[in-house]
Amino acid sequence: KAAAAGYIRANDLVHAISLLEQSRGEARILAGGQSLIASLNLRLAGETALIDINGVAELSGIELVGDRLRIGALTRHRELATSDLVARHVPAIAQAAPLIAHAAIRNRGTIGGSLAYADPAAELPACMLALDAEIVLRGPAGERRVRAGDFFIDLFTTDLAEDEMIVAVEVPVVVAGERQTTMELARRSGDYALAGIVLVDRPSGVRAAFFGVGPTPVLATAAMAAIDGGASADEAAELLADDLQPLDDVHAPAAVRLHLARVLLRRALAATRS
Ligand code: FAD
Repeated sequence: KAAAAGYIRANDLVHAISLLEQSRGEARILAGGQSLIASLNLRLAGETALIDINGVAELSGIELVGDRLRIGALTRHRELATSDLVARHVPAIAQAAPLIAHAAIRNRGTIGGSLAYADPAAELPACMLALDAEIVLRGPAGERRVRAGDFFIDLFTTDLAEDEMIVAVEVPVVVAGERQTTMELARRSGDYALAGIVLVDRPSGVRAAFFGVGPTPVLATAAMAAIDGGASADEAAELLADDLQPLDDVHAPAAVRLHLARVLLRRALAATRS
């Protein structure tokens, strides 16, 4: 079990940020708790206080704002999987959400928690990268927006400062002629993926973000350029050796992950271009 830690429930966003600022890096935000509580129980995280944001109403809700879908940080994975707005405007996220863990975890886990945690095998960070979403952060100095490509820095490391929190993400909505797909390969349903892809196939060009094949979600820039230049799926898949640096671990060797990424690119292109 976890070591003893303080607990305080934030009443609203201003309260949450002022608690974060006062804690000077000693406290951690508690959202769905599906990663944080496990880390505390394993004593991987040694926070002295938890700031519970589950009662902060400003962090909830999914709304269409112009040509973007704004998704509040406290939106649960289950809401992403069942929202009509998400299904209509960002189908890659609607397809990704049911692939996350199991129903009990999807009922509690949040999009803000998933992005802040930045597990390289997680689906939602890769969605943000493929969709070129903006992560909306708030700290004592006000609001800051970071494009997903600049947000995920390294293994479990993001651009979030210790006194900032994620309040929302803003995702460009699908345009005419655009197709999106999210696919992954895992040993068992509900496991983290051994490899996964989010493919956004726009008339203006393709964006392919992979997860589970490096320390962060990765844009396959060489393969993307080849596809836009008319290369076949097989030719583009070969170029993934230049784009991806999968890690060897107990779940799969790097070569297997690269092979799975190639399989996924071919399948995803077949799906968006069928
Ligand atoms: P928490 O656990 O509450 O917090 C995680 C971290 O994010 C903490 O450091 C916390 O301080 C920080 N944080 C939370 N919210 C904010 C915010 N708004 N601003 C700043 N920092 C914040 N995830 C997947 O993507 N794919 C999977 O296949 C998958 N499988 C899982 C299997 C199991 C058995 C378990 C237990 C978890 C799995 N997860 C998986 C993780 C799950 O998706 C979590 O919900 C998610 O990683 C974290 O979200 P959370 O809301 O629970 O965050």
